[in-house]
Parts: sequence; C-alpha cells; structure tokens
Amino acid sequence: MIITNPKIHQPILELVGEEADKLGIECYVVGGWVRDLILHRDSKDIDVVVVGKASADGEVPRWGILLAEAVAKRLGRGSHLSVFKTFGTAQVKKGDTEVEFVGARKESYRHDSRNPIVEDGTLEEDQNRRDFTINAMAICLNKDRYGELLDPFGGMYDLEDCIIQTPLDPDITFSDDPLRMMRAIRFATQLGFNLTGECFDAIARNKERINIITRERIADELNKIMLSRRPSEGWLLLDKTGLLPLIFPELAALKGVETMNGRAHKDIFYHTLKVLDNVAEAQGGLWLRWAALLHDIGKPRSKKYEPKVGWTFYNHNYLGAKMVPKIFKALKLPQNEKMNYVVKMVDLHMRPINLIEETVTDSAVRRLLFEAGDDINDLMLLCNADITSRNEDKVKRYHDNYELVMHKMVELEERDRIRNFQPPVMGDEIMQMFHLEPCALVGELKSAVKDAILDGIIPNDHDAAVIFIRQLAKDKGLETY
Ligand code: ATP
Ligand code: MG
Repeated sequence: MIITNPKIHQPILELVGEEADKLGIECYVVGGWVRDLILHRDSKDIDVVVVGKASADGEVPRWGILLAEAVAKRLGRGSHLSVFKTFGTAQVKKGDTEVEFVGARKESYRHDSRNPIVEDGTLEEDQNRRDFTINAMAICLNKDRYGELLDPFGGMYDLEDCIIQTPLDPDITFSDDPLRMMRAIRFATQLGFNLTGECFDAIARNKERINIITRERIADELNKIMLSRRPSEGWLLLDKTGLLPLIFPELAALKGVETMNGRAHKDIFYHTLKVLDNVAEAQGGLWLRWAALLHDIGKPRSKKYEPKVGWTFYNHNYLGAKMVPKIFKALKLPQNEKMNYVVKMVDLHMRPINLIEETVTDSAVRRLLFEAGDDINDLMLLCNADITSRNEDKVKRYHDNYELVMHKMVELEERDRIRNFQPPVMGDEIMQMFHLEPCALVGELKSAVKDAILDGIIPNDHDAAVIFIRQLAKDKGLETY
C-alpha cells in the first residue's frame, strides 16, 4: 500500500530519502509519527529507522548518525545536529521539527530491568520490538519506494477498529517492559481506543511488574492520561486491570460504598472521576484536573457515621489538602507552585458551597476572594464540576446559586479590589505613626486593617485605613505623632 497523504511529501522527509539513497541505505519513518499521520493528529517528532549493510570488516557502520550528518549538512544554517555516540543515534532539529535517526535494532530483555540488550537488526526485527500494532508501522522514504507502507501486524486495521494490541505475545511484551502497560492505557485514553481482551488480561496478569518502572515515567503517562478528553477512562482501566492500588493507593481507597442502618454514601471514586471529566470538558488545565482528582482524597480518613445525621466527612478538604504534598512526592509530581495551587484548590473547594448554603454575606465572599486570589475562577470551575447529583432540579439550583455568588464576587471585586490584596497601609508607615520599632503590635494593627476591609467595616483605601488605625491605637492607649 502507498500512503499518499501530502504530509509524507514534506520537504524534510524527501530530503532524508534522497540522502539515504546517496548513502545506499534503506530508510523509513516509523512509530508514533506514522500512527498520527493516519489519524490526522498533529505530531512534530519524526522517528527515522535506517537499515544498511555491514562493511568489509563485518561491522555495521552507525548509519543513523551518518544519515543525520548528511541531512544536517544539506539543511545548512538554522538546523542543529546532536549526536549520541553511545546509543548510535542522532537528532536533527530545524524550526520546531525534530527528526531522530537510529539504526534498525532488535532487543532482548532480562527479567530485572526494562533496559534491553540491543543489537543491530532488520526492519522487521525493529518493528517486532515495538509496543503496539498501531505503533509498529513504517513508511519507506527511498525514492523508488517512497510512501510504501510496511505494516506486518495490521496496525492499519487496528487504527480503523480503534484497537490497542501488541504485535507479539502480550505477556512477553508487558513483562519485558512493564511501562508498556501504562502506555497501553494512556493510548486507549488519548485516542479513545479499546484494549483487546488479550491485552487487558495480560496487563492484569503482569501488573506487579510495574514495580520496576520509575515513578517519573509513570507520572509522564498519568499526565498524558490527565490531559486527554475523558481522563476517567484511563483511571477506570488502571482500576480494572489492578494497577491502580500499586501506583496510587490513596485513589484506590476512594472506592466502595458503606451502608449503615440502610443509609449508603455515594462511591467517592466514581464521583471523583465524574468531577475530573467535568473539569476536562470545561477545558480546565492539567493542575486543575489534578485538583479535581484529589478534591475528595481526604474523605476516607474523615468518614464517620453519625446516627442522627448519616454519613459525614467533616474537614475532608483540610485533611485532603494536607495529603497532597505527600501524594505529589510519591508520584514524583512537581514540588513547587503547581503543587501549592493544587493544595489551595483542595483546601478551598468546600467554601463556595458553604457560601450558598448560608445567606451570602459580603464579608464571606470577600474572604474567599482574598484567599483564592487570581485562582478564584479556577476554584469556581472546580466547584461547578463538583455538582454530580442525578437530581436535575438540585443540579440546576446549585449552578444558579453559584451564578449568584459569582455576580456578588464581581461586584465586590470592582468595589474593593480584594483579589490581589495589598494592605493600604504598610508596616513602615505604622511604625512611623507611633514611633514603633518592628514588633508584634505592627503586625496586629496591619491584620486588624485587613480584617476590617474584608468585613466591610472600612473601604480598601489608604485614608480610611489611617483613620481606622488611629482610632484603634487610641483605644489601645498608644500615642500618635
Ligand atoms: P507520544 O509521542 O505521543 O508519546 P509515541 O508513540 O510517538 O507517542 P514515543 O515515546 O515518542 O511514543 O515513541 C516513539 C515510538 O517508539 C513508538 O511509537 C513505538 O513504536 C516505540 N516505543 C516507544 N516506547 C516504547 C516501549 N516502551 N516499548 C516498545 N516500543 C516503544
Ligand atoms: Mg513520539
């Protein structure tokens, strides 16, 4: 079969083919780029595999590096060549296109490591070592066979049928490199594909092998799952295959329903996944998606049955926020402002709902604005996503109430500019006013001003704050100057 998609005729690929012809070697574009070409997905990284003859002494030259050098030379200025001698690979970059060159290779594995023993091989052997049929296709770039598809495992049919399966025995594929179990679930989620029964069963059988994979690599796959259109699909597969408790026990602990005196609480795992999908549908960013996944993570620990009230989860937001740094550390997610943002979202996610249940006071709205700052819109998005009741009237009532809270926020923000609150009177000025050295009293006066503004006692401006401080100082018996 010949691929005619115009993308295969882009100048850089034709040029690679011409240079390969000059060197007298075969050359193919392979793997993810071919898959994405057929699926009409964007993809910038191009992997090229080359197959060349051994020289007179029986050694196979590093054809990948030689071809990369020739290509970089032809591209001239604006292109950049990196050579990785130990791996026998090279990369050429031009603009935002990256082409990776490597000799065809075959791999064999030892039990205790996902790093294989690598030897030179044929194109077929190179295709055999690839993870899924849809990732094992190659397109020839040599002039006389340009566009010819080499698809020994029927990857094309699997793309049409939306199926993920391994080229060889799945038990061997997954046991050799258990990261492939994560990749299988990630591709299923990203592409909206199904795992075949054999593939699914083999993951379930080999799940314990995931323990030899580094947390960083698992995190990469989890982030790709999170950024998919319906991230819940990935988490459900992780659960059903039995991988979930091995890689993220706190999330697995959300599963299940307990009943007391005939009263059951809802299954927090499925609720969480619905909230996550809602955030994804509303185009929430990666870290808001993590916040959605973790928003109720403290519930199992705070769960209590109180005969008069039923199931309660007091302070689960607070407990959950405390769990986030430990979870981020264990999953090797970043320990920085992104984590702090997730902590804040988990911590604050009950505040808007408490606002609508009470009568909304300006003071409570101002305090929430103050604490959420610029993340207030994300918080409200999360809270709206958190409404997953099946009772449509209830859902509508909640959404309407949030709408009211949002209006109130806009109104108060215009008036009092609380989101990026800067105290209208600085510590220096307070010290001058009362001839004070830096001391606790300065801090107390400052925070009294902040509270007065948040409570609406005074407006957020300098003169009002000075009058307020003088009055307060007088009450405390301080002398002003
Ligand atoms: P994406 O770039 O979206 O992550 P991809 O399929 O291009 O997807 P890469 O990691 O870029 O993934 O790898 C390129 C190709 O290398 C894959 O398509 C596949 O053929 C092969 N490959 C990558 N990782 C593995 C693996 N762990 N086992 C077997 N083959 C792999
Ligand atoms: Mg890729």
